[in-house]
Amino acid sequence: MTARVALVTGGTRGIGEAISVALRDAGYRVAANYGGNEQKAREFTERTGIPAYRFDVASFEDVRHGMTKIEHDLGPIEIIVNNAGITRDGVLHRMDFEQWNEVIQTNLASCFNTCRVAIDGMRARGFGRIVNIGSINGQAGQYGQVNYAAAKSGIHGFTKAMAQEGAGKGVTVNAIAPGYIDTDMVRAVPPNVLEKIVAKIPVGRLGKAEEIARGVLFLVADDAGFITGSTLSINGGQHMY
Ligand code: NDP
Repeated sequence: MTARVALVTGGTRGIGEAISVALRDAGYRVAANYGGNEQKAREFTERTGIPAYRFDVASFEDVRHGMTKIEHDLGPIEIIVNNAGITRDGVLHRMDFEQWNEVIQTNLASCFNTCRVAIDGMRARGFGRIVNIGSINGQAGQYGQVNYAAAKSGIHGFTKAMAQEGAGKGVTVNAIAPGYIDTDMVRAVPPNVLEKIVAKIPVGRLGKAEEIARGVLFLVADDAGFITGSTLSINGGQHMY
């Protein structure tokens, strides 16, 4: 059997890079998407040999074009890891509509965009694996993140609804809810705030991107067909959901 093709959105750095590399190492043919950081994407491809595709996951048309190109280059996309995400933090009473909307479009509408483009093919072939990267802050909420928490919480609902629709067609849909992982996103948190966060993590440290990738590999496997509609919390024991 030809190796399955996997799309990892935001797959060129941070958690996405670790997911792309883990999938490549497991024999999948990987396409890593990115939003605009050309230099990071170029370095990523040089380092890993994985092709990088630039498109804005918040735009349905961009996603459609990008995924068509990937399918032309590599073949039908059978696995999607919806990982691209951003933060635009601020308390609600100081948040403007742009901050709200950008996060909802990039973190949540993106899941609709990629899945909508791929779903017909997955249903026709009787196989698909979708993994949506949520967040502990979508489960618990977080001060200063109504936009991010709403988007990530929405991902969990999206996952369960789509899982029900795909179940009879071999398409599984699951979410991973990472806790705090050592990436650029978390490095942007002020050190004094980060110190307080780490103090609340039972294992006593930030997670590693590779520890999220491990969960993705588990969920996308061919023999994971009975796991659907689940959320896997990978958070060092923080909040025992
Ligand atoms: P990073 O900020 O390190 O990387 C984000 C990735 O998403 C980059 O590849 C970036 O591309 C891409 N991206 C951003 N916006 C777009 C867009 N509009 N279109 C396409 N690609 C885009 O993030 P992390 O690795 O930390 O986070 C990955 C995911 O995990 C996110 O969904 C995040 O919310 C989630 N998460 C992270 C946690 C953490 O502690 N780090 C905790 C819980 C969840 P480019 O390089 O071009 O900018």
